[in-house]
Amino acid sequence: MKTKKFSKKPKDLKERVGTKPVVCYPNENVNDNLKILLEARKHLKKIDEIIIPPRDARTFIVKSNNFFRIESLEGPQVGDLNLFQADNLDEKFYSGKTRALYGTHISVGDKMFSSFPYFRSLATITWDTLDWYGYDEDGGSVHDVIGTRCDPYTSKLISGKDYHYCCHSNLTRALIKEKNLNKNDAEKIVHDVLNVFMLTGFTNDTKQYFMKSSPVRPGDFLEFFAETDLLGVLSACPGGDCGSEHSSDVAKCYPLKVSIWSVEKKYLDGIEFSKVSSYNRDHGLVD
Ligand SMILES: [Zn+2]
Repeated sequence: MKTKKFSKKPKDLKERVGTKPVVCYPNENVNDNLKILLEARKHLKKIDEIIIPPRDARTFIVKSNNFFRIESLEGPQVGDLNLFQADNLDEKFYSGKTRALYGTHISVGDKMFSSFPYFRSLATITWDTLDWYGYDEDGGSVHDVIGTRCDPYTSKLISGKDYHYCCHSNLTRALIKEKNLNKNDAEKIVHDVLNVFMLTGFTNDTKQYFMKSSPVRPGDFLEFFAETDLLGVLSACPGGDCGSEHSSDVAKCYPLKVSIWSVEKKYLDGIEFSKVSSYNRDHGLVD
């Protein structure tokens, strides 16, 4: 950990420290279609809904140009979301690069990018009833792309116990059921999630990942616009509101709801559609 220092400070310390931070990936040129989407969302019609039972996961399909919402139902509950291109499970949500583009927590106007070599927006966030929260005094916020997903391997490392209803396992079981995959194939494509409603950050002193009770309440939702046909998988985390512990049966857990919404085509006029990256994939190789 960086708080433990083994090496001496150099003599030319002043020349090496104190430079100004530069944003690595300025995102102003990434079209978010937001003006059109904020108008279109006023005309949504619900076409389907799926309930995610506590400590379990379910899949759902969203066609391109439809919207979907993840909603809190009976009590504060965190959800772990995986997204795939519905016809090609190799194209899946890329949490790391989404974080590099938009920061540790995402909200309205931010896009969920897919893995290389596809690297396009799978979905844009169009509404967030928790955006009033912003960042608190500990640097905490909701909907993070820093926390991977709770899993039985890290749990075993830390507690020595086997627990089978972590989000990683819930997502794996749901994928096996939806796609008729074997356990190995399903587990390998489960990926780092969007932690919906989860309140997290990094501690000021050690920069360790922390969580606090989620401020989400029944009726709150996070809404997305699908930019290609999507297969979503959502787990209702065994941590419940993630205010105490996860990877166990201790926390009180509630169901989550996913609803799918359509909108007449005319409301999407002018939308710039997301395309697979046009990088030619030469990688500097000589024929
Ligand atoms: Zn979890």
